[in-house]
Amino acid sequence: MLTSFSISQLVLISTTYLLTLFGVAWATEHRWVPRWIVRHPLTYILSLGVYASAWAFFGSVGLAYQYGYGFLAIYLGLSGAFLLAPVLLYPILHLTRTYQLSSLADLLAFRFRSSWVGAITTIGMLLSAMPLLALQIQSVADTIGILTRQPIQDYVALAFCVLITLFSILFGARHISTREKHEGLVFAIAFESLVKLVALLIIGAYAVFVVFDGPSDLDMWLSQNQSILADLQIPLQEGPWRTLLLLFFASAIVMPHMYHMIFTENLNPRSMVSASWGLPLFLLLMSLPILPILWAGLKLGAPTSPEYFTLGLGLAVNSERLTLLAFMGGLSAASGVIIVLTLAMSGMVMNHLVLPLYQPPAEGNIYRWLKWMRRTLIVAIILAGYGFYLSLGSQQDLSNLGLVAFVATLQFLPGVLSVLYWPRGNSYGFISGAVAGMITWSIGMLLPMFSNIQEFYLPLLDYTYVLDDRNWHFSAIAALSMNCITFILVSLLTRTSIEEQRSAQACVVNNVRRPERRELYVSTPHEFAVELAKPLGAVTAQREVEQALQDLQIPFDERRPFALRRLRDRIEANLSGLMGPSVAQDLVSTFLPYKTDSQSYISEDIHFIESRLEDYQSRLTGLAAELDALRRYHRQTLQDLPMGVCSLARDREILMWNRALEDLTGITASRVIGSRLDDIDRPWRELLTNFAQDSSPHLYKHALQGAYEPRWLNLHKAAIDEPLAPGNSGLVLLLEDVTQTRLLEDKLVHSERLASIGRLAAGVAHEIGNPITGIACLAQNLREERDDDAEIIEISNQIVEQTKRVSRIVQSLMSFSHAGQQNQDDYYEPVNLFEVTSEAIHLLSLNKLSKTVHYYNLCDTQHWTLGDSQRLAQVLINLLSNARDASPEHGHIYIRTTASNSHVELSIEDQGSGISTASLEHLFEPFFTTKDPGQGTGLGLALVYSIIEEHQGEIHVESPCDLEQQLGTCFRITLPRQQPTATLLVSDLL
Ligand code: ADP
Repeated sequence: MLTSFSISQLVLISTTYLLTLFGVAWATEHRWVPRWIVRHPLTYILSLGVYASAWAFFGSVGLAYQYGYGFLAIYLGLSGAFLLAPVLLYPILHLTRTYQLSSLADLLAFRFRSSWVGAITTIGMLLSAMPLLALQIQSVADTIGILTRQPIQDYVALAFCVLITLFSILFGARHISTREKHEGLVFAIAFESLVKLVALLIIGAYAVFVVFDGPSDLDMWLSQNQSILADLQIPLQEGPWRTLLLLFFASAIVMPHMYHMIFTENLNPRSMVSASWGLPLFLLLMSLPILPILWAGLKLGAPTSPEYFTLGLGLAVNSERLTLLAFMGGLSAASGVIIVLTLAMSGMVMNHLVLPLYQPPAEGNIYRWLKWMRRTLIVAIILAGYGFYLSLGSQQDLSNLGLVAFVATLQFLPGVLSVLYWPRGNSYGFISGAVAGMITWSIGMLLPMFSNIQEFYLPLLDYTYVLDDRNWHFSAIAALSMNCITFILVSLLTRTSIEEQRSAQACVVNNVRRPERRELYVSTPHEFAVELAKPLGAVTAQREVEQALQDLQIPFDERRPFALRRLRDRIEANLSGLMGPSVAQDLVSTFLPYKTDSQSYISEDIHFIESRLEDYQSRLTGLAAELDALRRYHRQTLQDLPMGVCSLARDREILMWNRALEDLTGITASRVIGSRLDDIDRPWRELLTNFAQDSSPHLYKHALQGAYEPRWLNLHKAAIDEPLAPGNSGLVLLLEDVTQTRLLEDKLVHSERLASIGRLAAGVAHEIGNPITGIACLAQNLREERDDDAEIIEISNQIVEQTKRVSRIVQSLMSFSHAGQQNQDDYYEPVNLFEVTSEAIHLLSLNKLSKTVHYYNLCDTQHWTLGDSQRLAQVLINLLSNARDASPEHGHIYIRTTASNSHVELSIEDQGSGISTASLEHLFEPFFTTKDPGQGTGLGLALVYSIIEEHQGEIHVESPCDLEQQLGTCFRITLPRQQPTATLLVSDLL
């Protein structure tokens, strides 16, 4: 006696199973399942296992019975699609993520820029979804019928539908925007796939090891039943096998539930890489048990049709557990497909049938409205599927139902391929192709299902076409051919709108999208929100703008046209995720339009082109890669040019801002590229705008008075054609920082002035020298001649004293003017700085009348320079006496040396009064002194300066050097260094 189950028992089991599914989804949503598991590629692969519907679970055995090895098409077709992932699935995933396209209808409507395309695709998909839904419902009803061995109870099927609807609403329609994924749903579907895989493997293993007693026994049985093996081979030669392969290849992408799981609910784009081999592997595992189950069923004479051998095996061996396992596997396969298919369809119907006709009022909460509408649609679609199942009279075999559904979806394959690879295809072509295909499909496949028409006569070909199971593949190929031919012909013969051409270019694989640089009416994100509030309501509009700003990481006060264009695109994509591309395009082009008047002009957006090229770099090959390398080289040259480069479009939008310009202006490229020249910071704004408007192409030594130290710039400009938009003449500006040159020139002028004063001084000294000597002689003569007159003696003494003073001045003038005149090579020798300093200190301390200060000679005895020791001693005497004069009584004066490989630095630091900023400027000029008349000549530092220059050195002064007390002065002299070893040699020689 065969096992039999009661209805209530089965209902209880189904309910428990579905509740478990609820539990899994609920636990995932509440983060009880770790995220890394949920986002693991394995979860993704298993969730794609939704592909193996009840048809695969049960129907495959039937297919194997009917078509032999042909049943493998279901696995091979899909594996083919996944192995081609890099050229087929990745590009679609990229498109769906970039433009937030949640379904195939979205993708096609976006590409063909037509809401009609969306609507027709949705209707076509609905037509094909109905048989598929009915198939799943029927498989559940059938299995329950077989197990209870009672006529099929439709209300059980209805109860099943209600539970599934509940699940879909709770876990599949939680978020309305495609940007948020339903993790609970994905994980629950993955769980379902695991259940059916395990169930099928166990049943397969049972068939091999229990029914057949192991592989060798199976082998023996097959050799005794040669005809069964031969059955497997023969049908391979015929048409259905190839058509099946094509069907399953297409279904991987175009079936709504597959599209939904592969693209819309993809939690992690990188998982697709694993799925490209993981899913074929999963399906291989699913296909392994099929033949053993078929053979075991045949051997045992299972009490069901071959389609249900998976279930029948358990019945035949009278095993309750095995039967229930098969039942559970079938249940999970059926429920998985219904849930995902309904969700996918509800989104499509919403975006392409409901929203274009009726949009929610702006005052209400749009998000809520969308959510509830979606839920209503889920209920409606499942009910429609149930209605379809009832209308079929439950007498259809599963594989036939499945084929009808699959051939319908096949009609969208040409559309998808043209999205990626044929930009010439247009909406007229697509619509007429799809309609032609669907009509042929309806006549060849749908009609025979409902009516008794078994054949019809084709008058043109004078051929009677018989509609039966064996001929379905003719109908399929006829429908596809009609579709392709019509699509191609109509596309070639009709005109494509510019908008459509643009989005066609945007979708084509490996095409660098070339968006246009157009001007928007709105100029701030706030205005975006105000405009969008008209159709969406203030709250929704604000939320959408904020979301888009956040996605792009743009601040709320952004005004750059470039960034605003990106914002507009982003808002369109986000709205597309919410309401479908047709409605989103409509809203954005109505409320955020581009300027169209003659003032505005269109050119290509080169920032975008460049950023896209960066993304594509690794994928470019051959000539394209070489061109890209060349582009990079030129770009790099401009970027690294040691001169500021800035290029402007005709409307003064900044297209390029190189590194030197970043350094020069302190404004980063990322901040200004894409903005208008009048939006950059001062003082650059005035400088560049005025220069750009100016008629002269050059501006030399322009002094820029900014917030910081003054700069001198040379500016040049040239007109260039804007990239890819000849006729639009932009500008390229070059900015050369000549501040250093300018400072050097100043220094040169300064020393030239000093030199000329020196020459003047020499002349004057020479001229004064003789008369002064004369005066001194006369005064002495007078003193000697009139040595009796005390008054005369006193006066002549004073004259002599004053002439001595004048002589001293003349002397120092002479030595100042002589500086640099001797040929240094003749008498330069290595000079030890420590020794020179000691000598200078010694000489100074001989003057007992001056105030007492302490000199600290901290020079390194190893530091040598090459020069005239007498004149260097003079330098030190001058500096030290100045330091002494400025220092307080008992002040300290430090003399130190430091050295690098090539130079020694001598510093003289005192703790005196310091030098005022005003004095610093004139310090080295002859006759500059702050001392009382008679105290200083103002020639000391001038002399020091010329001696140091003569020694190829430099002198700098820091004052005050003690910043805290605002006291002290430090003179630093840098001189070429002489290495001590070399010095010794030289001095030995000398
Ligand atoms: P003189 O010493 O004859 O005045 P100098 O050319 O040597 O001429 O110096 C010019 C001026 O520089 C001095 O009058 C003095 O005001 C200032 N000066 C030079 N060295 C120092 C110092 N170490 N501290 C303060 N002031 C100094």
